[in-house]
Amino acid sequence: MIYADNAATTKMSQAAIDKMVSLMNDTYGNPSSLYRFGQKAKEALEEARETVASVIGAESREILFTSGGSEADNQAIRSAALLGKEKGKTHIVSTKFEHHAVLHTLAKLEKEGFTVTLLDVHEDGLVRPEEVEAAITDQTALVTIMYANNEIGTIQPISEIGRICRVKKVLFHTDAVQAIGHLPINVVEQNIDMLSASGHKFHGPKGTGFLYARKGIKLSNLIEGGAQERGKRAGTENVPAIASMAVALKEAANKMEKTSAYLTEKRNKLIDGLSKIEHSALNGDAEKRLPSNVNFCFEGIEGESLLLLLDEKGIAASSGSACTSGSLDPSHVLLAIGRVHDVAHGSLRLSLGEDVTDEDIDYMVKSVEEVVTYLRGFSPIWRDLQAGKKQFIL
Ligand SMILES: *Cc1c(COP(=O)(O)O)cnc(C)c1O
Repeated sequence: MIYADNAATTKMSQAAIDKMVSLMNDTYGNPSSLYRFGQKAKEALEEARETVASVIGAESREILFTSGGSEADNQAIRSAALLGKEKGKTHIVSTKFEHHAVLHTLAKLEKEGFTVTLLDVHEDGLVRPEEVEAAITDQTALVTIMYANNEIGTIQPISEIGRICRVKKVLFHTDAVQAIGHLPINVVEQNIDMLSASGHKFHGPKGTGFLYARKGIKLSNLIEGGAQERGKRAGTENVPAIASMAVALKEAANKMEKTSAYLTEKRNKLIDGLSKIEHSALNGDAEKRLPSNVNFCFEGIEGESLLLLLDEKGIAASSGSACTSGSLDPSHVLLAIGRVHDVAHGSLRLSLGEDVTDEDIDYMVKSVEEVVTYLRGFSPIWRDLQAGKKQFIL
């Protein structure tokens, strides 16, 4: 079995599991309690906060633990929107290929009276900093642009966008869920005001994540109640899971360079192999992409059938994001980079794990080739293309 869907979620690392179990056994106090049981849990919580902060160059008081990336995105965007509104600023700049946690929050804010500019993403899957700059007005409260895209893996020019936002005095949030633990990040050097992260994308537990908000930025609550997390997120913290996430992040950061070099080589080998399939195309820039991400379109087939047949061959892949698969609409990300509906339907994402071998890559190339050929064999679209009744796009 080859698990090639690490952009959807990752397997927990053994160190993260061990940490979680150890705290569940021994450190079950409530971190808000004053007696020793509670204080031990509080120590574990604050140690995790320091670890997480140190990995991104932040201070620990700038880290707020959440239930994951979606919650962090919601809270960052809502907080910035409210701060803007207090100053009469009701415009937000983002892009068309954000995660739905961002896009749906922005859609709600539009209904509440905000104006949202969603920038186009170019064919290479990259946002242009000069277009971000041009979209900012004196009404702009927030720029929110993802660090690396979850479907096509393209890495955005975050440092340049951060610099522009700082000069223009506009808050800058980045959904760094796909990047953190996989790419080097420094929130100070990159002028990032707010950043969202999720534990289960870097071998930590599901249901964990955090929001970094630069000191001085006033967050508003999504959840009201007790005074946990400096009063900004009520509810008893899941200490074992949070501590486990911190261990996973530290581990990922420590071996990042090595993992990245290894995966880049395997990714390029996979891209080379799949490129040989006729009428196929890589989605997104070949270089400015996550070391783990491969995303292709194959003309004349359906991504869903491709996935099911690959599953039979023991390969777990995705045809878009976990959030959109199951619906028959083509991926909003592929449409945003200009793929037409027919082509966007035949997409395949393989997101590699650190344990992938050369034999796995060879097996994936061979299996995808077989399945694509098989599916094209009875595809009416493919027949029309072959007969010249329809023009090939790829
Ligand atoms: C997975 C993901 C999220 C959501 O994170 P959860 O922890 O699952 O809520 C948000 N943004 C991106 C880019 C993601 O890949």
